[in-house]
Amino acid sequence: MNYKPEFTDKDISLYKFISGPYDNNGYLLICNHTKKSVIVDAPGNPVDLIRAAQETNTDMMLITHNHWDHLLGYKEITSKLNLSVGIGINDSDGMKPAIPDFQISDGQTLPIGEISLTAIHTPGHTEGSTCFLINNILFTGDTLFPGGPGKSKDPAAFKTIIDSISTKLLPLAPSVVFYPGHGLQGTIAKAQEDYSIFRKNPQSNEIFGDIEWLN
Ligand SMILES: [Zn+2]
Repeated sequence: MNYKPEFTDKDISLYKFISGPYDNNGYLLICNHTKKSVIVDAPGNPVDLIRAAQETNTDMMLITHNHWDHLLGYKEITSKLNLSVGIGINDSDGMKPAIPDFQISDGQTLPIGEISLTAIHTPGHTEGSTCFLINNILFTGDTLFPGGPGKSKDPAAFKTIIDSISTKLLPLAPSVVFYPGHGLQGTIAKAQEDYSIFRKNPQSNEIFGDIEWLN
């Protein structure tokens, strides 16, 4: 592999590829024992992502949510790699005209070779937004970023995303490193710390949109 991994241990290797008009992250996660792999999200112009995946045996592509910037490379990837595509149940309609091969529910186990990811349904940014956990690695799509939650479209969606983050992601081990759909990774430890400061400040019931924990 001519690319530098973000992370590697005896079981897994993780590669990150930034592409498309909104600098989206596409990830390739490989089972080191079998060379089977999974792609997380399909940004536009995924040349390097496809090239790297072709050195492995890619079974599956998981889409964190149905926003178009995470799907611009869908056709290119599915035309060049023989894989099945899954997305959270509540986001599968919005994937039209690309129809997912399977729908993912909360807690579902997704095996690749000798390893497996666990789906965590985290609505808020979209209804079907789903995070994927494997060992100490968490893919968060546009649900959780190092500085705060992903964008919410109204106050109800903001409450939902906060509920998803605080009840399903922040209880994970502090050592978990999360990899979002854009930008750099963060740790659950830092997110827990920032979120506890955010909670202490009085919040309006009407906030939504691009919210940062510490602003
Ligand atoms: Zn999004």
